[in-house]
Amino acid sequence: MQEAMIKRAKELLADGSVKRVIGWKRGEFAYDITPAVFESAEELDKDFVFDDFTSANVSKYLVKESKKEGKVLVFLKPCDTYSLNQLTKEHRVDRDNIYVIGIPGGPKLDIEKIKAKGITGILSVKNDNYTLKIDTLYGEETMPFSEAILDKCASCKSKKHVTYDELIGEDGDVLDSDRFDMVEKLENMTAQERYDFWREQLSKCIRCNACRNVCPACTCEKCVFDNPNSGVENKAASDSFEENMFHIIRAFHVAGRCTDCGECSRVCPQNIPLHLLNRKFIKDINSLYGEYQAGADTTSRAPLTDYTADDCEASIVHERGAE
Ligand code: SF4
Ligand code: SF4
Ligand code: SF4
Repeated sequence: MQEAMIKRAKELLADGSVKRVIGWKRGEFAYDITPAVFESAEELDKDFVFDDFTSANVSKYLVKESKKEGKVLVFLKPCDTYSLNQLTKEHRVDRDNIYVIGIPGGPKLDIEKIKAKGITGILSVKNDNYTLKIDTLYGEETMPFSEAILDKCASCKSKKHVTYDELIGEDGDVLDSDRFDMVEKLENMTAQERYDFWREQLSKCIRCNACRNVCPACTCEKCVFDNPNSGVENKAASDSFEENMFHIIRAFHVAGRCTDCGECSRVCPQNIPLHLLNRKFIKDINSLYGEYQAGADTTSRAPLTDYTADDCEASIVHERGAE
């Protein structure tokens, strides 16, 4: 797959169809993959990588890259295409200046789950027929692929690309995901148990802002958390109220726009399951306003920016309108 992607990217660069390419490159370690922009065949040959660790959703980079002169080629996994649609709908990207090649999705691997097995000094990780062969400074280790799958891939909602200009590989289907199972468990807890669960999780937050910075729904040019007059712009939460509010405010801001891409949880250095908060909003929106998947298209009106007489508490607007 990697070779086919590099070959196609080089063709599109060579014939002038695109000016640059967004993909992934290896970091300091083989598993330490990071998004990157490539501008030449030489750069692609040297650094471009696509493997079991290329999990980052690169769609947010299009906010900046699509505004530059000349088309940008981007490789998007199925889940990432929902983010691009949502960004298109919100006029945050110039879709006409983007060439999307849809590529197969995961499941991708979580290096932390491999390290959690006590495996250290990792040099490389190879998938040998769904057994991981892990080369380390201390010899080779093995573990089942299934035990190292990223959480966001373990509850994948769709293998279908909702936008693309061409595909490499087959397109898939929307899946019957179990992604709301843990939300239901939380709903079934008592209020105190639920509060304790979230306090235990959110008290770990070091307010690094990685969740906000990676989130494709968080592209505001002026963010409330950067406003010194907001009272919530601290780089470290000063008390438990502020610790909670950072996450509650962000969850409200992305409600109805969060595509459930799972990036916030993936990048959190404290392993806080932030996606559960957003999934609770998604689940509630589904039940109160009808099934809705953010990013599934670029034209439908989102439940929270639309009004129908069937809405929950529709009478609030109804009565005012009738006066
Ligand atoms: S990524 Fe995690 S630690 Fe960082 S601000 Fe978000 S929740 Fe807090
Ligand atoms: S809140 Fe999390 S899951 Fe939702 S769009 Fe942002 S990064 Fe993705
Ligand atoms: S937290 Fe709110 S204000 Fe800040 S970028 Fe996200 S949506 Fe915008």
